[in-house]
Amino acid sequence: MKKFIHLLLAVFVVCPVSYAFTSPGNGADSGTGGAIPATKNVLWHYFPDKDVKNPTQNTNVLVMSNQYEDFAAQDLEANTSGINFASLNVSSYVPQPADFSGYDAVLLFEDGIFNNTIDVGNAIYNYQQGGGGVVLATFVDQDWSNNTKYGPRPGWGNLESVSPLISDTQGCEYNADNMGTILDPGHPIMNGVNSLYADSYRGGTQLSPDGTALALWSTPNFLGTNDPIVAIYTPVTGGRTAAISVMPHYGNFGGFSGDYYRLFQNALQWVAGGNDSNVVPPLHQESNLIMTSSDYSNFSTLAYYNAMKINHSGVDLALSRYGTRTASKVSAGKEVHAICDGTVEFTHSDGGLYSFMKVHHPDCNGQDIMAYYGHISPYEVSTEVIKDDPVGTIKDWANNSHVHLTLDTKTNRDLKSIKYEICSFTLDAATNTVTSLTNCGGTSLTRGKIKLKIGWGQVKTLAYRDNQGHLHNTSNFYINENAMRQLGFIDFFDLY
Ligand SMILES: [Zn+2]
Repeated sequence: MKKFIHLLLAVFVVCPVSYAFTSPGNGADSGTGGAIPATKNVLWHYFPDKDVKNPTQNTNVLVMSNQYEDFAAQDLEANTSGINFASLNVSSYVPQPADFSGYDAVLLFEDGIFNNTIDVGNAIYNYQQGGGGVVLATFVDQDWSNNTKYGPRPGWGNLESVSPLISDTQGCEYNADNMGTILDPGHPIMNGVNSLYADSYRGGTQLSPDGTALALWSTPNFLGTNDPIVAIYTPVTGGRTAAISVMPHYGNFGGFSGDYYRLFQNALQWVAGGNDSNVVPPLHQESNLIMTSSDYSNFSTLAYYNAMKINHSGVDLALSRYGTRTASKVSAGKEVHAICDGTVEFTHSDGGLYSFMKVHHPDCNGQDIMAYYGHISPYEVSTEVIKDDPVGTIKDWANNSHVHLTLDTKTNRDLKSIKYEICSFTLDAATNTVTSLTNCGGTSLTRGKIKLKIGWGQVKTLAYRDNQGHLHNTSNFYINENAMRQLGFIDFFDLY
């Protein structure tokens, strides 16, 4: 009897009847067709094996610039080892996701300012967020958004947010200089890099707030502060980045000496080494099928709320043919894998579509997470799972078959049985949007408090008491992304 009640409760919490019978198709493979947006969610799949790359394999690097990219690729390939170079001119072309396929790193530079930089920067940023390594080099500083020398420049879009170097407001210096202080001689990028001379085309940068300098030019930059030769950054999400303040096509002009090629080789191989992720995808890609989500089914989206009248506490993942988003049951029966090492805490195998597995992952890229793998037929697995271990198969939900993944960083609570939490909240009354939630866990609905019903698939507002003490029954509030994070839910893609 006890077990029966428990299962009833679990089913009630996670599967409102309306969800089961009126779902408009929240799986990634459903919808009206059309191209998948070029988001990190899709790009990520180009690098599923990044952290298990065979070290004897060559690194594949794509060189991008508005000119001299072909020369730089050939010259660097001739003077470095262990790297295959290709090139792409981006003077008027915006790189597409497919252009990045197969490359471990991108080297971006420019020679002369041009007007395509925002779109190029955003495309490279998406690639970086997907795990790709990025090295920036002179003269990208001349189009940086804080460079005033050439009038206001558009900048490099989102790419600027993950760069270790920014412009010193004037950009490249045209006088000669030598390498000065080596700040971190033990870093892999400085291995064998002991000297560098450039007769021009170098310097003019400063560290970004996130950057770490490894070596400096001997003279300061325009601002009178350190002028780094090379700096690095490992963003919270995505691949590594490095920046080198000397032009990578120097070989075409002469006037340099020292360990110039070794510096580029080391930096490209270091960023290509990946982000040291210990997270693996829950679905394995197959020929013509890659794992994807959709804007509709992602963690905390307004589109999902508008359709379902509940807030989505996770991400729906399915296998899709790249470039299409037509309804398909191709994901039904596909194996689901543990995203990190963990401990199985609960398995609910007789709940129909709402069967799920709850797994504690104490370290997914540093995050302590309780994960709920939903809409699956769980395997009978041992308590301990190693990342990539199969944990079950996706239930057949016709054209809407998918795995729902909720990641809860509040590991002491149990979303399979929580009925509601009481929180203080901030409401944007014009849009019925809850923009922040704090002090969850109370029991009485006092003034300024909101009552939420929480499960692994949903967070639903039930009622609130306003500051005058009046009670309002409502399920009509959308809980935005920031408020969902304050509740302890994080997006699957936050782990990368
Ligand atoms: Zn879902």
